[in-house]
Amino acid sequence: MYDVVIIGGGITGASIAYELSKYKLKVALVEKENDVACVTTKANSGIVHAGYDPKPGTIMAKLNVLGSKMYKELAPLFHVHYSNIGSLVVGRKEDEAKVLELYQRGLENKVEDMAILRGEEIFKIEPNLNKDISIALYAKSAAVVSPWEMCLAFAENAVRNGVKLYLSFKVTSIKKERDSFFVESSGTILKTKMIINAAGLYADEIYNMVLDNKEDGFTIVPVKGDYYLLDKEEGKNVNHVIFQTPTKLGKGVLVSKTCHGNLIVGPNAITIEDKEDFGVDEKSLDYIRNMANLTTNKINYRNNIRNFSGLRAKILNYDDFLIGESKVKGFINFAGIKSPGLSAAPAFGPYAKEILEGMGVKFVKNEDFKITPLPKFFKDMSIDEIEEKIKENELYGRIICRCETVSEGEIVDSLHRPIPCLSIDAVKRRCNAGMGRCQGGFCGPKILEIMVRELHVTPKDVLQDKDGSNIVLEYTKGGLAHEEI
Ligand SMILES: Cc1cc2nc3c(=O)[nH]c(=O)nc-3n(C[C@H](O)[C@H](O)[C@H](O)COP(=O)(O)OP(=O)(O)OC[C@H]3O[C@@H](n4cnc5c(N)ncnc54)[C@H](O)[C@@H]3O)c2cc1C
Repeated sequence: MYDVVIIGGGITGASIAYELSKYKLKVALVEKENDVACVTTKANSGIVHAGYDPKPGTIMAKLNVLGSKMYKELAPLFHVHYSNIGSLVVGRKEDEAKVLELYQRGLENKVEDMAILRGEEIFKIEPNLNKDISIALYAKSAAVVSPWEMCLAFAENAVRNGVKLYLSFKVTSIKKERDSFFVESSGTILKTKMIINAAGLYADEIYNMVLDNKEDGFTIVPVKGDYYLLDKEEGKNVNHVIFQTPTKLGKGVLVSKTCHGNLIVGPNAITIEDKEDFGVDEKSLDYIRNMANLTTNKINYRNNIRNFSGLRAKILNYDDFLIGESKVKGFINFAGIKSPGLSAAPAFGPYAKEILEGMGVKFVKNEDFKITPLPKFFKDMSIDEIEEKIKENELYGRIICRCETVSEGEIVDSLHRPIPCLSIDAVKRRCNAGMGRCQGGFCGPKILEIMVRELHVTPKDVLQDKDGSNIVLEYTKGGLAHEEI
């Protein structure tokens, strides 16, 4: 019997699992996909917001500001790519009042290190912005981070410290009998005292599984945001995260350097019905380019390397995170985790602990708890470190992904870490192979061969991403040169 089953292996569930692994509790983390960080956590802007945007007094405001502070310490500890580049909310004359209002809101939310910049002060630090911009709210504490690396760091550390991870475990029913829940997926049943619902877009459906009266539930509507991800050449255009003055429609289209030095432009916000619709359409891309042109007209969109979209899990008619023990005793919701959920994520774990303490759970320290950082990327190592690594293992001397300088040693390591790595995209999330200019065009087939060799599978077993996305459909033994690798 588990003490806690956490449903959802995005950054919310992973952060909570990590925190609980510091204590002597029996915890399971279950995820419907074949890897963690596979849904909203992998498709967002990657910004650690400073915290001036959420309404004062909301859970969102409190956890955003706290989470943002926690990143500063945690990201380097985990070797997660994070860069405290700061953000600017830019506006024109007509936006003055709104920008100053945001500044005030930031003060109320206790955001540190903010300033209002005007005229030349702005162009001194951001020379490529359009010259009709006259005011900016500068928030030094804002940062950019790799969301999937952070999620992996939480999840891997949780697993190393005793949390049991179930992948490809889609919860299809939950039954409650007296003080226990029975969580089911394809015939496997986990018995647990408590459940934490961190199922993102499906948190409403998971909650409905335990409700007698569905009217006590909530509805999640997906709000889609599309993006351009551009080559590192374009990353040089800006030094900070540049937001436009928010409107009723949201934070607007941002232009930012990513933590790996690319340029990200987007998102828009369109309410849709289908929680699995990740398509990117031309109309949205035109809108994004037109909006971003109001910030800077220096971007060369011919250097685009990928478009993608992410879905925000918005609760209908509710504008905060919905966090806490629900009407069903022992069942905790972490629902409606839309933006700034990534920024707040490090604070979710301690917050979940507080809730569980309030429910009477006793926390006894796990004396064996230890943090293991993610392996350092080859491209971040010094020459001495590289030489040392190659001496240890010659596979580090073979570059497989030329765009991102990822060695075979890193790919092999990714395949043997605590969380099974079963797809080319899972390798990408672990070591950046395929993330660059050619988007896996050159290294994809080589990675497939390495996976075949290391995982003792056939090429037909290797997935691009989700279950069913097999790359090779027909294969004759000897058809691949993987023995030569
Ligand atoms: C366009 C966009 C831009 C954003 N930009 C930012 C930003 O810059 N900064 C910021 O702070 N926030 C941002 N966010 C918000 C942030 O991405 C989310 O708050 C965060 O990723 C939510 O993580 P999560 O773990 O709650 O959800 P998810 O990552 O979606 O994880 C939920 C998990 O639950 C699993 N699951 C669902 N149903 C089941 C089931 N039946 N059984 C088992 N598992 C199940 C899913 O497969 C999924 O892996 C953005 C969001 C979007 C969409």
